[in-house]
Amino acid sequence: MGLQRFEFTQVRMGVDARIIVYAHDEERAVRACRAAYTRISELEQMMSDYRADSELNSLCQQAVGRWVRVSPKLFYVLWRGQKLAQQTDGAFDVTVGALVRLWREARHTGKLTDEATLRSAKARSGYRLMELSLPRRAVRLKAEGMQLDLGGIAKGYACDWALRVLRRHDITRALIQMGGDIVAGNTPPGEQGWRIELTEGGATILSNAALSTSGSTEQYVEIDGVRYAHIIDPRTGLGLTNLVLARVRARDGITADSLATAAAVLGETGAKKLERLYRGVQVHIVKPGGS
Ligand code: ADP
Ligand code: MG
Repeated sequence: MGLQRFEFTQVRMGVDARIIVYAHDEERAVRACRAAYTRISELEQMMSDYRADSELNSLCQQAVGRWVRVSPKLFYVLWRGQKLAQQTDGAFDVTVGALVRLWREARHTGKLTDEATLRSAKARSGYRLMELSLPRRAVRLKAEGMQLDLGGIAKGYACDWALRVLRRHDITRALIQMGGDIVAGNTPPGEQGWRIELTEGGATILSNAALSTSGSTEQYVEIDGVRYAHIIDPRTGLGLTNLVLARVRARDGITADSLATAAAVLGETGAKKLERLYRGVQVHIVKPGGS
């Protein structure tokens, strides 16, 4: 029997997680996708900053001034985040959680936080305040009240894992999308690849690769005529105020997701630098800076 297309959507990590697969029958598609969603749920329980009992949040509680051992997957994501922070001089930085919380508060109240509160949150942010030990697979934080935030990297990683789980169930023709992050496996039968419609118009073809889009155009709060996006510029401590949309094509989701967030902060020159650092990666600034 030929392959049929099946599509599922469930909410994970605060977005619609969409899985499209080609399988011989519905039962196999359902079984494989259920396993993929279960894996994404496990990752969410590890990495969510919204859930008080996530592994990430207990780490923030426990790791100030002492080493705390973490699960291999969480360690890997923190490690990748820390590497990118060093490469981008902190433009991408998973320790910006305190600043992200201020942004969420501002979105709620419609007001910017006062200088002193901002200064305090900035003092609790910065990748140099997080130490990682590979041999111990452990994390140590240097400042009280630090909040880690994997919102710019975890969805791409979750898509990678979903594809891996599907493959273990013998499904190779698949696509996973979580918000702006897409990971594609083998092509649909008889096709060149997965056709992805782009928000700015046009389309692109994807197979065995990842595509992430990130920027200031969708999630923002407007205060006194200024738009502050949900991506923090760690230099100011505030959300990006320029209009920018960055897109990254990479071999895997964790790379595409994190580099797209970094490129949104860094803009055109940073995009070039990221391409030099990560071989085979394409970084495209769809909408450049300016106000
Ligand atoms: P989206 O969440 O819309 O897919 P991104 O992948 O760009 O977009 O991630 C944005 C999220 O990343 C924010 O909601 C926040 O949780 C986190 N974040 C914000 N600023 C930074 C930053 N400078 N470096 C790393 N992560 C960030
Ligand atoms: Mg991202």
